[in-house]
Amino acid sequence: MGPWKLRILLSVLFLVIVSIVSILSTFRTTPRVPAIDLPPSAPIAIGTPLPPSESPTPTPEPANFVGRLNLIVPVAGVRPDQLLDTYSDARSEGRTHDAIDIPAAAETPVLAAADGKIIKLFQSERGGTTIYQLSANQEMIFYYAHLSHYAEGLAEGNLVKQGEVIAYVGDTGNAGAGNYHLHFSIALVTDPKRYWEGANINPYPLLQNRAR
Ligand SMILES: [Zn+2]
Repeated sequence: MGPWKLRILLSVLFLVIVSIVSILSTFRTTPRVPAIDLPPSAPIAIGTPLPPSESPTPTPEPANFVGRLNLIVPVAGVRPDQLLDTYSDARSEGRTHDAIDIPAAAETPVLAAADGKIIKLFQSERGGTTIYQLSANQEMIFYYAHLSHYAEGLAEGNLVKQGEVIAYVGDTGNAGAGNYHLHFSIALVTDPKRYWEGANINPYPLLQNRAR
């Protein structure tokens, strides 16, 4: 092998090594940037905050708001360990459940899962007698369905406290006659005025992880 051939071989080798090193360094550095900059628990996107005049409560840090929910099981006498996760269950017309069903005897009191405002009392074909409640931080809608009837005096605009009786368990809507249960869902909303358009999140772990 002549010296010029050796030189070409060495140059090619050098180029190959340089490209391998540059490719490796690309692989190494790119995924690190977002992974390091994120807080330990990834926040859930909760949309545009409201203007200060409309939100009397301070906006919680997104990463912590779920932990601060501190929900109670919204049916009197039911403990967190009695709940079943029915969030991903299939429903008619290809839908998923996106809620939790909490079985209870007819007329068992339904309690506000958290403080908030009753924004809509609605008679729905599927949900029957229903309540939409806006969370105190205005970022979530709590939805209660298949109710037998509302608590006396309950009206849209009422501010309710966590644990307050707002309704009673029933079998209205498509629950099925005698299938008494509360259908409860939680949705993140960007616009509280469009309370029916939220993105559902699973209530089950939120009802399990109540901070003490
Ligand atoms: Zn349900």
